[in-house]
Amino acid sequence: MTLDGTNSYVLRAPGAANAIVVDPGPDDAGHLARLASAGPVELVLITHHHADHVAGAAAFAELVGAPMRAVDPEYCAGAAPLVDGETIRAAGLALEVLHTPGHTADSACFLVQGEEGPAVLTGDTILGRGTTIIADPDGALGPYLDSLARLRALALAADAPVPVLPAHGAVLPDLAAICDAYLAHRAERLEQVRSALAELGSGASAEAVTDLVYADTDASVRQAAEASVRAQLAYLRGERG
Ligand SMILES: [Zn+2]
Repeated sequence: MTLDGTNSYVLRAPGAANAIVVDPGPDDAGHLARLASAGPVELVLITHHHADHVAGAAAFAELVGAPMRAVDPEYCAGAAPLVDGETIRAAGLALEVLHTPGHTADSACFLVQGEEGPAVLTGDTILGRGTTIIADPDGALGPYLDSLARLRALALAADAPVPVLPAHGAVLPDLAAICDAYLAHRAERLEQVRSALAELGSGASAEAVTDLVYADTDASVRQAAEASVRAQLAYLRGERG
């Protein structure tokens, strides 16, 4: 589920001494030592609570002596939880916090103003390839669609394509384009689930719908497919968001 592993980002303005580290990642001593060697770390930010993003975070924050902040108060050390719309000033940068629930309830993105324009760190809300899992019931489809629409509007308001810095996979050149693709993919999947319900009956189980919609899916991703169907059923039945 991590594609090539988790991307940890080190952010700093040109000439700034200190850095912000986003998503220190798994508890891997070599990786954390390498991140720490990037210079004095002023702040550790977390995009969401999944283990591949936070398992090494508390140890890392202690190692570099920096406060850690996340939407979820459980992953804040020595600082307040992140608030939607707040501007973080550190490492010579101004980062805007965007609370973007959907993948998880606590998912956040960070809008950073770079020398060549804005870029958005998207965590697992948008990935470098493939599509994002809705981690039902922590995640939910309704909020996720709203988060994508919000990111899309933000991208369209910029003067030029806004780069996407995802937590897994490669950097993408155009936030608006990837939001369009994700929204189209979600609409297509919802349509498939709707037609499965028409065939199976509106009370059909997630298992039965998954058998039909994801018939050619490999056993290794069956659980993820079923979770995705549960999220879609909850959305269509108006249960969660
Ligand atoms: Zn995740």
